Amino acid sequence: LPYVISKRPEWDKFAGAVYSIAFDTVFPDGRTLQIGTAHDLGQNFSKAFGISFERENGTRDYVWQTSYGISERVIAAVIAIHGDDRGLVLPPSVAPIQIVVIPIPYKGSEEEIIEKSKEIAEKLKINGFRTQLDLREKLTPGSKYFEWELRGVPLRIEIGPRDLKEGTITLVRRDTLEKKPVKVDGVIEEAKIMLQNIEKNLKEQASAWLKNKIHDAESLEAAKVILEKESGIIELGWCGNDACGLKFEEKIDAKVLGTPADGKKLSVKRKCPICGEEAKFIIRLAKTY
Ligand SMILES: [Zn+2]
Repeated sequence: LPYVISKRPEWDKFAGAVYSIAFDTVFPDGRTLQIGTAHDLGQNFSKAFGISFERENGTRDYVWQTSYGISERVIAAVIAIHGDDRGLVLPPSVAPIQIVVIPIPYKGSEEEIIEKSKEIAEKLKINGFRTQLDLREKLTPGSKYFEWELRGVPLRIEIGPRDLKEGTITLVRRDTLEKKPVKVDGVIEEAKIMLQNIEKNLKEQASAWLKNKIHDAESLEAAKVILEKESGIIELGWCGNDACGLKFEEKIDAKVLGTPADGKKLSVKRKCPICGEEAKFIIRLAKTY
């Protein structure tokens, strides 16, 4: 998942933390979702709870602590950001089932096709792919495709009579729905490459989407127009004063995500649109979940 990392503002950081950072991603409707946070707690909690350690020289000091939070929200973000109109699209790295093998039985060669499907599924499993063989007899191959697409399985392998005669099977990608006939002998190598390509493609698509949703705004008016039109993350210049930071939220009816903690800096001179002083930081705002 692509995200931006921001230092949370003083007035809205985790209580007791010295420094908090948050990871935010942009949903398809343009609102942001905070998918994780990390905090430098300093000695605030260790002093309160008396957690100390002994130094090499025998003196004692309170420990320094960090904490982080990451939750099921990440799963929601994976579903919302990678999914399409056919259902889930799961990146191979997190998919519980990476490959589904579906036989296409044909009169006279049912047994042969089932046997070959079992053999290929076994081979994939032995080679470390999380593989499911779908042998349900009551469902047509077409309805199986539909179901596994809905469930976001990255790669489908179809094994039919024509394929077997030619010594090939068909690989179908969930992300692009592209079909590729491959030699039975080369299935492990091909599956590996295709899963890598799916992972890469999903990452690139999502990164391009996020990049497109980060908007530089020169003024509050410009920020308001962007928020109304396409939402996403707005970056404005900020003097650094909390009072101004809070006013941003009122004036453009969005929430402050923070200032970039990923090294991004103002590339041009800007004024703080609230007080008119020279801007020292970028401040990020968005409509949030
Ligand atoms: Zn200001």
